[in-house]
Amino acid sequence: MKTYFSSDFKLGILGGGQLGRMLLRETNKFDIQTYVIDPSNEAPCQAFAHQFTQGDLLDFDTVYNFGKKVDVLTFEIESVNVDALQKLESEGVIVYPSSKTLGIIQNKATQKLFYKDHDIPTAPFTRFAFTSEIHDAISNGGLQLPFVWKAAQFGYDGNGVKVIRTLKDLIDLPNTECIAEEMVPFKNELAVIVTRNPSGEMRNYPVVEMEFHPEANQVEYVICPARISDDVAQKAIDVALKVSKQINHVGLLAVELFQTQDDDILVNEVAPRPHNSGHQTIEASYTSQFEQHLRAILDLPLGNPESKANGIMVNLVGAEGYTGNVVYENMSTLLAMDGVTPHIYGKKETRPFRKMGHVTIVHKNMESARAIAQKVKETIKVISN
Ligand code: ADP
Repeated sequence: MKTYFSSDFKLGILGGGQLGRMLLRETNKFDIQTYVIDPSNEAPCQAFAHQFTQGDLLDFDTVYNFGKKVDVLTFEIESVNVDALQKLESEGVIVYPSSKTLGIIQNKATQKLFYKDHDIPTAPFTRFAFTSEIHDAISNGGLQLPFVWKAAQFGYDGNGVKVIRTLKDLIDLPNTECIAEEMVPFKNELAVIVTRNPSGEMRNYPVVEMEFHPEANQVEYVICPARISDDVAQKAIDVALKVSKQINHVGLLAVELFQTQDDDILVNEVAPRPHNSGHQTIEASYTSQFEQHLRAILDLPLGNPESKANGIMVNLVGAEGYTGNVVYENMSTLLAMDGVTPHIYGKKETRPFRKMGHVTIVHKNMESARAIAQKVKETIKVISN
């Protein structure tokens, strides 16, 4: 086996945001050398990598030249230059997840076609080369309102997604490659993180549930395990494992799912990297998602993904009406609560809804965990001075 620990081995990470930063805690634990590249010189990873480079992740030469310096290359964001990854692979650099996998996932239309071709349950959809073609499709009866418009590329955290109820909703959308997806009146949004290493070993985390704010329609809590029946949980896990296997994935794959009114499971989308729905694993699981990703891409045995206790994650996002140097209000009150751990991502500037950190609540009892999570949410304020 290759020696990764306290050696000359170099792991490269494309993207230096909070996901990279949490991954670096694990490489630090194993004493693995890391090279990180991000467009921002103030990226959360900047002070924690052995070598930090500022550069454009979508530029072929930048990604290629960076990749040439490392032994294994991974990414914490999907918007990277796939052609450069392909060339690096052809020249012997190990890239996980592979350029082929990323190529399928990076474009939502390609991703959805993959599900269709591989008999993976997903909501029906139509692909359009340009948003402007949608009008015609509606007027000739090929497409019915309402539907969910999704940009094929470069959307994240809900931008690039819009519910279209009337023709007016189409105004102002970018004229880009997109899909129109049937609305799913789901009961629950669930997620399963699956890990697979190159030897084919696979392990999955328990199914988690996103609990939404009743009015704001924003995810408020990620709850692990999801409060669903064993049957539904098993169905969700089976679908997630199938996606990982069919896509020949290596590393962490977060599979976002809808539980329909009839308790069917549909795949919404996948992310080939550590994911917001797995942050609670840092405190609540035997092996955190970040350590698991590292084990997988280095073809090491995978760790135990089971939970030690119930875990709930609350995102810390910038409060509305505040832009500027960040201040975390009421941190002492928060830290005085039982089983509560804040993670601060190291972004100096806050702005409305920017992800600034998260808080994990760990408790033996789910109802108590949920009650503490609510208190956390009501206590902490991410504002500016
Ligand atoms: P992103 O890539 O920005 O996370 P998603 O495809 O996950 O975008 O969509 C964001 C949110 O929009 C989902 O979490 C879900 O609440 C809602 N949504 C997406 N697709 C559908 C759909 N077909 N029916 C109903 N709601 C949807």
